[in-house]
Amino acid sequence: MKIAAVAGGVGAGKFLRGLIQIVSPTELTVIVNTGDDMEVHGLHVSPDLDSVTYWLAGVADRERGWGRADETFRATEQLREFHADGSWFGIGDLDLATHLFRTRLMAAGERLTGATAAIAERFGVEARLLPMTDYPVTTRVDAVDQAGDTLDLHFQEYWVKRGARDDVKGVRFVGAATASPAPGALEAIASAEAILLCPSNPIASIDPILAVPGFAAALAARRERVAGVSPIVGGAPLRGMADKLLPTAGVEVSAAGVAAYYAGRGLIGGWVIDETDTALEPRIEALGLRTLMTDTIMVDDEAAARVARVALALAVAGGS
Ligand code: GDP
Ligand code: CA
Repeated sequence: MKIAAVAGGVGAGKFLRGLIQIVSPTELTVIVNTGDDMEVHGLHVSPDLDSVTYWLAGVADRERGWGRADETFRATEQLREFHADGSWFGIGDLDLATHLFRTRLMAAGERLTGATAAIAERFGVEARLLPMTDYPVTTRVDAVDQAGDTLDLHFQEYWVKRGARDDVKGVRFVGAATASPAPGALEAIASAEAILLCPSNPIASIDPILAVPGFAAALAARRERVAGVSPIVGGAPLRGMADKLLPTAGVEVSAAGVAAYYAGRGLIGGWVIDETDTALEPRIEALGLRTLMTDTIMVDDEAAARVARVALALAVAGGS
């Protein structure tokens, strides 16, 4: 069964790691957000692609969520002693090898799609990983700091450097309007028997993908076969800053709010919610969505596989 998944970083990585316990990874195409990509120390860093790669390869740090297990940060410590530009962005020593390898491939003329495939192959990842686009797209956050000054921040500056302390006014995806989907991405959605929207940050991870022309229409055309997993459980994200970003788009911070945000654009047919959110089911069904409930906290691969099984069932139940 051919499956396409739309993914951000850590929430998606955990979920997809569960998915490949129950389906053959060779049937899976994952389309990953690149709005967080950044040049650091001259290197092309793709945080969400790396998270998904590391989770699928089984080398992710489950506690920290991002980066690799058994990681050290000696290079970053030295760069901080140098007061190097961008050294606020912690890069592990093993992770650094990925960025060096990617940057070298791209300097030699490879597109991000090709570099991503090469990295996935080196990690033994059998699923096909695609960046959302080969074009540069950057998620920028318009914010106001405590002194009342307006800021225009790269998403990573907002989140990592400044610890999400600023008041967010809006989020923009610079370059998205003139970008095109990575080769094969729209075809993967069009031909999949199930399309899964991973439990990722709707504003910071999924919206950048939807901002690239073609993706929203491709999903809408297959909406009955699209099932999402709520990243919001019990009225709060399990990690990250979705609670700060959702209200800026007028979205209620709940499993029902996010469901409405996607359903309002005709993007999904099914929505998986956590058992703690049972009371929201009637509201979600009133949006015209099929729902299923399970414990969606992915504490280990087994739990993630259970969530994946439910999402897959919901997508397939959408018929043609
Ligand atoms: P990034 O890794 O920072 O790029 O962020 P993501 O786009 O992956 O967003 C993290 C989202 O994943 C947050 O909204 C979390 O609530 C969600 N998430 C993380 N772990 C889990 C989990 O175990 N279950 C569910 N349902 N959501 C999760
Ligand atoms: Ca991310």
